Amino acid sequence: MSQNLITEEQVFEELKKAIVETLRVDENSITPDSSLINDLGAESLDFLDINYRLEQAFGMKMARHFVLEHIEEMFGEGTAIDEDGRLTEKAIELLKTRFGHNMSDLKAGMDMDEIPVMITVRSMTQGVMDILNSLPEKCTKCGNSAWQSDEGVKVKCGSCGESATYTNGDDLIKAWLTKVQEEKKIF
Ligand SMILES: [Zn+2]
Repeated sequence: MSQNLITEEQVFEELKKAIVETLRVDENSITPDSSLINDLGAESLDFLDINYRLEQAFGMKMARHFVLEHIEEMFGEGTAIDEDGRLTEKAIELLKTRFGHNMSDLKAGMDMDEIPVMITVRSMTQGVMDILNSLPEKCTKCGNSAWQSDEGVKVKCGSCGESATYTNGDDLIKAWLTKVQEEKKIF
């Protein structure tokens, strides 16, 4: 379900907060196009910290593994990354389907290490929105559809008070991969 309780703007603000707290950068230096690694100086462990802060804020679970790892797990070793650590054409086709508008530099044969630098504030915001949009139509506890947002970030059932549960990030990626594979038969 596409929820309208939490806006992209609110997610952007929360992500900015998480980035400032984790990386100690000036809030004004963060734009939607900032690369977390190249522009804001994030290292891989910082992503865990930022993800944790987002999870606490919204009450959801971010993906632990990137799309490429899920492709290899679902469709076999070597399907996403060849033996030289370069992205396969099929992996690029898939990534473009998902991130094309955010990652315009994607090309087959690029080194997999070039991918993390392409993570921007905008692509992370979109990742969070995807999870929030997995909000079920009805409360899992009382069955009413009466979701309300609390302080703009946490969603609760207005009928019984139950906190919203979202599909976790990894399951969302797997479901998406299954759907794309059925439609496009890339692998
Ligand atoms: Zn309820």
